Amino acid sequence: MPRCKAAGCTKNHAKHYCRVCHTKDSDHCAMNCPVLQALCTSGRCVGYHQTSSAHGQQISQSRVMRPSSSGAAGRGIYFAIRPNETQRKAHNHGCMVTAEIFMSRPKHVYRANSPNVTYESLAAEGYDGVIVHGFMSGVEVVVYRSEQVRVISVQNM
Ligand SMILES: [Zn+2]
Ligand SMILES: [Zn+2]
Repeated sequence: MPRCKAAGCTKNHAKHYCRVCHTKDSDHCAMNCPVLQALCTSGRCVGYHQTSSAHGQQISQSRVMRPSSSGAAGRGIYFAIRPNETQRKAHNHGCMVTAEIFMSRPKHVYRANSPNVTYESLAAEGYDGVIVHGFMSGVEVVVYRSEQVRVISVQNM
């Protein structure tokens, strides 16, 4: 049986595709991706969030991003780690928000189905954010407080 090079992988396949760094014959699983580990250890990373022009304008003026009313990983602020990955994730299009995210202890989850997660419930587990794996469009970084996000720029597309 062909085995991929990714340590800890239990799938029967010859090559392991890392959805984070896009390596086609990867020696690591996405949760152990060095790109993600670099993001986590620094405690801050840049994220991208696509939204409607109207909402973008609101963010541009207030410089504040607020948690969504719902979501697969709870009421959070959702980001992609690359601009082009927002295309398939976003519910609204037209405006790209670039922001600095403050998160040092992310909980890694596979295809989140945890709509009741809150900042407090995560903090009780020792985390301050979530990284959702398993989507073809790339990982999602989720934080739960406006204070964890600093808006860098808002641009119409
Ligand atoms: Zn594999
Ligand atoms: Zn990787």
